[in-house]
Amino acid sequence: YTPLAELDPEVKELIDQETWRQYTGLELIASENLTGLATMEATGSIFTNKYSEGTPSARYYGGTEYIDKLEKLCQKRALAAFNLDPEKWGVNVQPYSGSTANFAVMTALIKPHDRLMGLRLCDGGHVTHGHYTSAQRKLSAASVYFESHPYSVKPETSMVDYISLASQAKICRPRLIICGASAYPRDWNYATIREVADNVGAWVMADIAHLSGLVAAQEVNDPFEYCDIVTTTTHKTLRGPRAGLIFFRKNHPRAPDLERRINETVSPICQSGPHNNTIAAVATSLLQVCRPEWKAYAKQVILNAQTLAEALKAYGYTLVTDGTDTHLIIWDLRPQDLTGSKVQALCDLLGIAINKTAVSDDTSAHAPHGIRLGTSALTSRDMNEDAIKIVAGFLHRAIQLASLLQQEAGTKILKDFARVATCQEGSNQGHVQV
Ligand code: PLP
Repeated sequence: YTPLAELDPEVKELIDQETWRQYTGLELIASENLTGLATMEATGSIFTNKYSEGTPSARYYGGTEYIDKLEKLCQKRALAAFNLDPEKWGVNVQPYSGSTANFAVMTALIKPHDRLMGLRLCDGGHVTHGHYTSAQRKLSAASVYFESHPYSVKPETSMVDYISLASQAKICRPRLIICGASAYPRDWNYATIREVADNVGAWVMADIAHLSGLVAAQEVNDPFEYCDIVTTTTHKTLRGPRAGLIFFRKNHPRAPDLERRINETVSPICQSGPHNNTIAAVATSLLQVCRPEWKAYAKQVILNAQTLAEALKAYGYTLVTDGTDTHLIIWDLRPQDLTGSKVQALCDLLGIAINKTAVSDDTSAHAPHGIRLGTSALTSRDMNEDAIKIVAGFLHRAIQLASLLQQEAGTKILKDFARVATCQEGSNQGHVQV
């Protein structure tokens, strides 16, 4: 055994720098979290060496006795974490990511060229739900292989427009309706989407990648009551390693073979050997989700997001939908005449990690006018409402600074500022105080 520092000092150095960045900075990216050391220990475990194509007790490789036990344990914990009856629900824990999970579900449920509907990307939907910018630029497998007809939010409120979704569904008669988003701060009305889908004979899939930690704690609406399939990533509010999960109804009246279809589309259709080290880490993180403390964490995540929203509004800022029901806030910077990209660049220098996002009819993905914020990671660092109000103050000062820089000499000052702030590279002192 040669330690990493000796074998590969370059990678070790990058790990150390990233560790420093994560420990000293404020992590406000809504799709991220700070997973526990035990979960990371499982990710770095010896399970990484093992191939195990197939499903428990039906593998193509030998030597899988512990892998079988591990995968079954992970499945059991996944069902328990979401309070699901194993007689009624099954789960596939093999997807490498949320994207693979989503495409595997689409492939299992519908045929190439069938129609599907997901929330428009610039309204907060996820790219894998069928994003395209034109017939020539189809930017997701869902829009390449299926016919995508996105639905929208109401322009006045920025809330999902369930009425126009219903009339659009009547006209285009989709085979699949997807609920879920990555930049939408409000909860979902799954019952209404189920009704719309039943009227046109469509499947309903909920992608709860962002909300899953809150769903498990029963702090937001329950998609399992109404949806045929639920997918999630495991690394956002759920605080696990990077992976995906697919929950499906067993003995579905419309497709009694749904379990076989999902298992086959995950592997061999969309991927091959499971990443067993990741499955071990998913199991470890789900154990924590099953514990009573999880509910307190999820509650605090939402309370912190709502506190942050109120504090920003008190400074006079505009939030999309005027607040949040979840861990996530979309901040509209159009009144400040700032782009999210400028504020993101400045916040990087200040040790605050945020990300730019589209608001309203923003067309540029590179210079949109919004910022997405999330409180999962700060809550994992035990921050409460008092700490979050201080963070809101930092963000306010960052905006003041960005406005000042924009007014005076614009990009040149910002660039000089960036040079000064990063010139101490290597000394781990790159973060500027606000
Ligand atoms: N679905 C939603 C709603 C997401 O927000 C994301 C990630 O941002 C994904 C799917 C894709 O997950 P992954 O990055 O693991 O492929």
